[in-house]
Amino acid sequence: MSAILYNERHQVIIGNAMEAKKEMTLKEVKEGIAELSRAELERLDKWIHARMLRLEKQEAKSAEKRRREILREEKRGGWVYQQVAVRCGKPGCKCNEGQPHGAYWYAYRREGRKVVSKYIGKELRELDE
Ligand SMILES: [Zn+2]
Repeated sequence: MSAILYNERHQVIIGNAMEAKKEMTLKEVKEGIAELSRAELERLDKWIHARMLRLEKQEAKSAEKRRREILREEKRGGWVYQQVAVRCGKPGCKCNEGQPHGAYWYAYRREGRKVVSKYIGKELRELDE
């Protein structure tokens, strides 16, 4: 919470609230924000957007985990091969009654900062490089 507000007065207010183990209500947060300058509001705005983006990514990741069940995993060459059963989650689909799609093989490897994935298909087939 202390990351939210930048001027010292508000940090003290939040510090006290945290020491007392009292959660600030949204109304109290808004009252604090109402006293911020335009420059501080811009910083807060940036912080909120970055925070929301992080939360959205986390939610997307955990939703993805719920949809994909890894059945087998093999390391060959520079690739990690995973056989995955997928639940698309579309209403009325067989996968909702415990009959997942696939299973399909995918290959993954790290290239610098990102993870590259390749769809292989129902049968495991090693990639060339
Ligand atoms: Zn489905």
